[in-house]
Amino acid sequence: MKAHSPFAAYDIPLQAMPNGEHSYSYALSGDFFGLFEASLITEAQIQVDLEIRRLGVRLDCNLRSVGTFQVGCARCLEPLAFPIQDDSHLVVQLIDSGSEVNSDEILVLPSGEISWNVAQFMYESIHLHFPLRAVCDEAALACQSQEPWSEQNLLTYQTSDNAPTDPRWDSLKQVNFQ
Ligand SMILES: [Zn+2]
Repeated sequence: MKAHSPFAAYDIPLQAMPNGEHSYSYALSGDFFGLFEASLITEAQIQVDLEIRRLGVRLDCNLRSVGTFQVGCARCLEPLAFPIQDDSHLVVQLIDSGSEVNSDEILVLPSGEISWNVAQFMYESIHLHFPLRAVCDEAALACQSQEPWSEQNLLTYQTSDNAPTDPRWDSLKQVNFQ
Protein backbone atom coordinates (compact mmCIF):
# COMPACT_ATOMS: atom_id res chain seq x y z
CA MET A 1 0.00 0.00 0.00
CA LYS A 2 1.29 3.44 -0.88
CA ALA A 3 2.13 5.89 1.88
CA HIS A 4 -0.54 8.35 0.83
CA SER A 5 -3.20 5.88 -0.11
CA PRO A 6 -6.62 6.31 1.52
CA PHE A 7 -5.74 3.23 3.56
CA ALA A 8 -3.06 5.18 5.43
CA ALA A 9 -5.72 6.49 7.82
CA TYR A 10 -6.02 2.94 9.18
CA ASP A 11 -2.32 2.39 9.87
CA ILE A 12 -1.45 1.50 13.46
CA PRO A 13 2.20 2.24 14.31
CA LEU A 14 3.90 -0.86 15.67
CA GLN A 15 7.51 0.14 16.35
CA ALA A 16 6.48 3.13 18.44
CA MET A 17 3.82 1.26 20.41
CA PRO A 18 4.79 0.58 24.04
CA ASN A 19 3.43 -2.32 26.07
CA GLY A 20 -0.01 -1.69 27.54
CA GLU A 21 -3.48 -0.69 26.41
CA HIS A 22 -4.13 1.34 23.29
CA SER A 23 -7.47 2.54 21.92
CA TYR A 24 -8.41 3.56 18.41
CA SER A 25 -11.77 4.49 16.98
CA TYR A 26 -13.10 4.95 13.49
CA ALA A 27 -16.37 6.15 11.99
CA LEU A 28 -16.86 4.06 8.86
CA SER A 29 -19.02 5.35 6.02
CA GLY A 30 -19.71 4.13 2.51
CA ASP A 31 -16.38 5.68 1.49
CA PHE A 32 -14.53 3.13 3.60
CA PHE A 33 -16.23 0.19 1.91
CA GLY A 34 -15.67 1.85 -1.46
CA LEU A 35 -11.94 1.26 -0.91
CA PHE A 36 -12.60 -2.45 -1.41
CA GLU A 37 -13.47 -3.50 -4.92
CA ALA A 38 -15.29 -6.59 -3.72
CA SER A 39 -17.46 -4.76 -1.20
CA LEU A 40 -21.21 -5.15 -1.55
CA ILE A 41 -21.87 -2.47 1.07
CA THR A 42 -22.84 0.83 -0.50
CA GLU A 43 -23.48 3.04 2.52
CA ALA A 44 -22.67 2.67 6.18
CA GLN A 45 -22.65 4.37 9.54
CA ILE A 46 -20.56 2.16 11.75
CA GLN A 47 -18.69 3.15 14.87
CA VAL A 48 -15.63 0.95 15.34
CA ASP A 49 -13.64 0.78 18.57
CA LEU A 50 -10.36 -1.09 18.54
CA GLU A 51 -8.68 -1.97 21.82
CA ILE A 52 -5.16 -3.31 21.64
CA ARG A 53 -3.28 -4.80 24.58
CA ARG A 54 0.38 -5.21 23.77
CA LEU A 55 2.78 -7.47 25.61
CA GLY A 56 6.08 -7.70 23.76
CA VAL A 57 5.58 -9.25 20.35
CA ARG A 58 1.96 -10.16 21.06
CA LEU A 59 -0.95 -7.81 20.47
CA ASP A 60 -4.41 -8.82 21.67
CA CYS A 61 -6.96 -6.92 19.60
CA ASN A 62 -10.64 -6.52 20.36
CA LEU A 63 -12.75 -4.88 17.71
CA ARG A 64 -16.29 -3.68 18.36
CA SER A 65 -18.42 -2.49 15.45
CA VAL A 66 -21.87 -1.00 15.98
CA GLY A 67 -24.15 0.71 13.47
CA THR A 68 -25.94 0.08 10.21
CA PHE A 69 -24.93 -0.68 6.66
CA GLN A 70 -26.78 -0.58 3.38
CA VAL A 71 -26.79 -3.04 0.52
CA GLY A 72 -28.86 -3.23 -2.63
CA CYS A 73 -31.65 -5.82 -2.76
CA ALA A 74 -30.43 -8.79 -4.78
CA ARG A 75 -33.66 -8.73 -6.75
CA CYS A 76 -34.74 -5.11 -7.23
CA LEU A 77 -31.58 -3.21 -6.13
CA GLU A 78 -33.57 -1.14 -3.64
CA PRO A 79 -31.19 -0.02 -0.86
CA LEU A 80 -31.75 -2.00 2.35
CA ALA A 81 -30.39 -1.10 5.78
CA PHE A 82 -29.14 -3.77 8.14
CA PRO A 83 -28.00 -3.28 11.73
CA ILE A 84 -24.64 -4.61 12.83
CA GLN A 85 -23.14 -5.30 16.21
CA ASP A 86 -19.93 -7.27 16.05
CA ASP A 87 -17.21 -8.22 18.49
CA SER A 88 -14.13 -9.66 16.84
CA HIS A 89 -10.87 -10.79 18.34
CA LEU A 90 -7.48 -11.09 16.70
CA VAL A 91 -4.01 -11.86 18.00
CA VAL A 92 -1.17 -10.21 16.11
CA GLN A 93 2.26 -11.72 16.55
CA LEU A 94 5.39 -9.89 15.47
CA ILE A 95 7.74 -12.74 14.71
CA ASP A 96 9.96 -13.79 11.83
CA SER A 97 9.68 -17.52 12.43
CA GLY A 98 7.67 -19.42 9.87
CA SER A 99 6.41 -21.89 12.42
CA GLU A 100 3.26 -19.92 13.17
CA VAL A 101 0.41 -20.12 10.73
CA ASN A 102 -2.01 -17.30 9.96
CA SER A 103 -5.61 -18.07 10.74
CA ASP A 104 -8.84 -16.26 11.47
CA GLU A 105 -7.60 -15.68 15.01
CA ILE A 106 -3.87 -15.12 14.50
CA LEU A 107 -2.09 -12.73 12.19
CA VAL A 108 1.69 -13.05 11.93
CA LEU A 109 3.64 -9.97 10.88
CA PRO A 110 7.42 -9.60 10.46
CA SER A 111 9.08 -8.33 13.64
CA GLY A 112 10.43 -5.27 11.83
CA GLU A 113 7.03 -4.19 10.48
CA ILE A 114 6.60 -0.45 10.99
CA SER A 115 2.82 -0.41 11.00
CA TRP A 116 -0.24 -2.62 10.73
CA ASN A 117 -3.10 -1.55 8.53
CA VAL A 118 -6.35 -2.51 10.25
CA ALA A 119 -8.66 -1.72 7.31
CA GLN A 120 -8.82 -5.35 6.15
CA PHE A 121 -9.50 -6.61 9.68
CA MET A 122 -12.40 -4.17 10.06
CA TYR A 123 -13.72 -4.87 6.57
CA GLU A 124 -13.76 -8.63 7.04
CA SER A 125 -15.28 -8.48 10.53
CA ILE A 126 -18.16 -6.40 9.21
CA HIS A 127 -18.68 -8.34 5.99
CA LEU A 128 -19.08 -11.54 7.99
CA HIS A 129 -22.45 -10.06 8.95
CA PHE A 130 -23.50 -9.57 5.37
CA PRO A 131 -27.01 -11.03 5.06
CA LEU A 132 -27.16 -14.37 3.30
CA ARG A 133 -30.41 -13.22 1.72
CA ALA A 134 -29.90 -9.54 0.90
CA VAL A 135 -33.44 -9.10 -0.33
CA CYS A 136 -36.38 -6.86 0.58
CA ASP A 137 -38.17 -9.69 2.42
CA GLU A 138 -35.35 -9.86 4.96
CA ALA A 139 -35.82 -6.17 5.71
CA ALA A 140 -39.61 -6.61 5.91
CA LEU A 141 -40.17 -4.57 2.77
CA ALA A 142 -42.21 -5.26 -0.35
CA CYS A 143 -39.88 -6.11 -3.18
CA GLN A 144 -40.25 -4.10 -6.40
CA SER A 145 -39.07 -7.00 -8.50
CA GLN A 146 -41.79 -8.87 -10.40
CA GLU A 147 -39.58 -11.87 -10.93
CA PRO A 148 -40.56 -14.93 -8.95
CA TRP A 149 -38.16 -15.72 -6.17
CA SER A 150 -35.94 -18.75 -6.54
CA GLU A 151 -32.76 -19.99 -4.98
CA GLN A 152 -31.21 -19.55 -8.41
CA ASN A 153 -31.47 -15.77 -8.00
CA LEU A 154 -29.47 -15.98 -4.84
CA LEU A 155 -26.89 -18.30 -6.32
CA THR A 156 -26.31 -15.98 -9.25
CA TYR A 157 -25.95 -13.03 -6.95
CA GLN A 158 -23.44 -14.71 -4.67
CA THR A 159 -21.22 -15.98 -7.44
CA SER A 160 -21.18 -12.75 -9.42
CA ASP A 161 -17.85 -11.16 -10.31
CA ASN A 162 -18.25 -8.70 -7.48
CA ALA A 163 -18.42 -11.41 -4.85
CA PRO A 164 -15.46 -11.50 -2.48
CA THR A 165 -13.17 -14.51 -2.69
CA ASP A 166 -12.30 -14.40 1.00
CA PRO A 167 -12.50 -17.99 2.25
CA ARG A 168 -14.12 -16.72 5.43
CA TRP A 169 -17.23 -16.22 3.32
CA ASP A 170 -17.59 -19.96 3.41
CA SER A 171 -18.44 -19.72 7.08
CA LEU A 172 -21.38 -17.51 6.11
CA LYS A 173 -22.99 -20.45 4.42
CA GLN A 174 -23.31 -22.19 7.75
CA VAL A 175 -24.90 -19.20 9.44
CA ASN A 176 -28.62 -19.49 9.86
CA PHE A 177 -30.25 -16.11 9.35
CA GLN A 178 -33.74 -16.32 10.77
ZN1 LIG B 1 -36.26 -5.95 -3.57
